[in-house]
Amino acid sequence: MAVVPIYNCFNPILRKPTLEVESLTDEIKELINNLWDTLYHVSNGVGLAANQIGADKSVIVIDTSLNGTIEGSGPVLLINPEILHYSEELVMDKEGCLSIPELYEDVVRSETIKIKYYDIEMKEHIEVIDGYLAVVMQHEYDHLQGKLFFDLFTPLKRTLTKAKLSKIAKGRFKTAYDMIQADGTFTKGEPDEDD
Ligand code: ZN
Repeated sequence: MAVVPIYNCFNPILRKPTLEVESLTDEIKELINNLWDTLYHVSNGVGLAANQIGADKSVIVIDTSLNGTIEGSGPVLLINPEILHYSEELVMDKEGCLSIPELYEDVVRSETIKIKYYDIEMKEHIEVIDGYLAVVMQHEYDHLQGKLFFDLFTPLKRTLTKAKLSKIAKGRFKTAYDMIQADGTFTKGEPDEDD
């Protein structure tokens, strides 16, 4: 179990679709523990996909309680998730991403989704999820497909955020947590003094 660095969104691993988990090997169990440890350590995120810590596997951890302003989900683990249905009703909410520091923008998502996933015992579940948890699940699920939330921007918003994204690509930002940058270099986190 360990807190591990988070990959910059411009690192190629974040653009590669992940592979399905076939069985709960020790390696997968360690990956899940590392995801939890890292998510709770960084604390300003509500979800983490395995490829964000450099692991090419379809695993997501979420805890919307970390948002602090809503009644949260508590820990949610999704192995091999598949979104079976997206509602036509849409919601718009501000999103951020631990792999995309300092970028917070409105994104339009489905209000309700139907999702299939496997739990820690590799038992299948099919659930209908709505509200903030559904938004977070869509964000994290996109990671597993190699998609990032700025892919959903309108052409105008893309233009407006171009300079910021270019800074992020070059690693010109500070985070409280360790990162692996676009070119594979390691950057030590610098926690705020008052944390
Ligand atoms: Zn993200």
